[in-house]
Amino acid sequence: MLSKTVSRPEVTPVRILFASSEAVPFATTGGLGDVCGSLPFALANLGHDVRVIIPAYRGIWYAGREIRSLGLEFIVSVGSKTVSGRLLESRADNVTFYFVQQDYYYDRDALYNVHGQDYADNCERFVFFDRAVMEAIRLLDFVPDILHVHDWQTGLVPAYLKIEYSQSPLYRGIGSVLTIHNLAYQGRFWHWDMLLTGLDWKYFNWRQMEFYGQLSFLKTGIVFADTISTVSPRYAQEIQTPEFGWGLEGVLRSRRDVLYGILNGIDDTVWNPETDPHIACRYNAQTVFQGKAICKKALQEEMGLPVRPDAPLISMIGRITHQKGFDMVADILPYWLEKEDAQWVILGTGDTALEQRFREFADRWPQKIAVRIDFCHPLAHRIHAGADIFVMPSRFEPCGLAQLQALRYGTVPVVREIGGLADTIVDCRSENAAGGRANGFSFSSEDPWELSRTLQRACETYRQPDLWRQLIQNGITQDWSWRHSAPRYIEMYEDTLRRVRGTNQ
Ligand code: ADP
Repeated sequence: MLSKTVSRPEVTPVRILFASSEAVPFATTGGLGDVCGSLPFALANLGHDVRVIIPAYRGIWYAGREIRSLGLEFIVSVGSKTVSGRLLESRADNVTFYFVQQDYYYDRDALYNVHGQDYADNCERFVFFDRAVMEAIRLLDFVPDILHVHDWQTGLVPAYLKIEYSQSPLYRGIGSVLTIHNLAYQGRFWHWDMLLTGLDWKYFNWRQMEFYGQLSFLKTGIVFADTISTVSPRYAQEIQTPEFGWGLEGVLRSRRDVLYGILNGIDDTVWNPETDPHIACRYNAQTVFQGKAICKKALQEEMGLPVRPDAPLISMIGRITHQKGFDMVADILPYWLEKEDAQWVILGTGDTALEQRFREFADRWPQKIAVRIDFCHPLAHRIHAGADIFVMPSRFEPCGLAQLQALRYGTVPVVREIGGLADTIVDCRSENAAGGRANGFSFSSEDPWELSRTLQRACETYRQPDLWRQLIQNGITQDWSWRHSAPRYIEMYEDTLRRVRGTNQ
């Protein structure tokens, strides 16, 4: 967590409430949780007042943080029911986290689904949460300037603000921002769930809340938020096209004047090989080659692979899904495991059939590949520290954090040139290498054999120590923390407030 407070007296503090379904360390399934648990600290360090509100899932009690009840209770309507909830709080340095407690909805094994099946009442769970956010503002006596919501789960909040609350003096002047972390997850439910929202049927039309006959939380957010952002400049462009727009490209294009693309950062106090408690040997840019050699040996031992300093060790960490291109890797792996002199380490969970393919590779070629079907932060750190190459052949990638984590640990990314991957990885062509800009390898098509050729290019470069060292140095010395992006969020908030309030804030 970013803990140092930078005092900037000249700043006019913006009050910001993040409403999200995830935030580390309390609840996360991926990048959304990482961002909502780290960006608030970066904004607070710039002198702003930032609070975060998420559901009180079962897991929040195991995050190692003190959580206390605020003694604040509320009741909201969810369809024909009235449902009660209460507010909890956890303070961490300069950011306060609030939790909406409603055990029937949130005290469950997982956040959204079990055994690959979404909870049948997900619509109801997040209608309740979104209404709870609006009530929390009143109860907490914290009226934000900016209500910053994230992804479909909080997509109704901007609609409630505009339709039901904006006439109240307390809420008037609050600007809403929706950040899209992944357009593929839209929160679509059958049309009768419109009744759960409590909003008038007149909003269920193709310009507002309806998407091909269904209720869409994300579209609702896109339509009603004052400002929209996504997590890289390239993805902000891509989602306005049919190829990446998932049917929402039209509505996004219609709002392009208020659509921002701001690159995610990583929390460099968590992702720092110099202080990382999980890795075999700590290192920095000066000691990276010795440090990584020790970490590589330790990783090979931990994963049961032969200890071979000479073989390139290729890694993948992430959701084992079509989006992340794990199927492309599975298509080329039989060739790689049979013919190429490289080792593989895979960590992830996801699609059951794909997981099974990877397990079978590990059973058949135990000398070449180790697979862990798990979600394990410490192991993710050890893999980034020990591997030589990190593969991320995503079909679409809003930003991608894992490639930035890899760079931070001196591991060379091989990525598909799309979305945030295109914004962060510069291919090792000779002119880029000579200019000190190259930090990885990229390819453009969805053809697995183009991935394979790019991996071969990476492995050939691995065998040219001078060039390889230069690539590692380029990557490890780049700054992918929030330092660059946090000020851009503030600019976006200020622009939002100027439009909403018609002032020169
Ligand atoms: P997405 O949010 O689309 O899943 P990102 O690359 O933006 O992908 O963020 C994924 C985050 O989750 C990264 O911090 C990554 O290290 C982490 N992560 C993904 N899968 C695992 C896993 N199996 N174990 C540990 N960490 C993981």
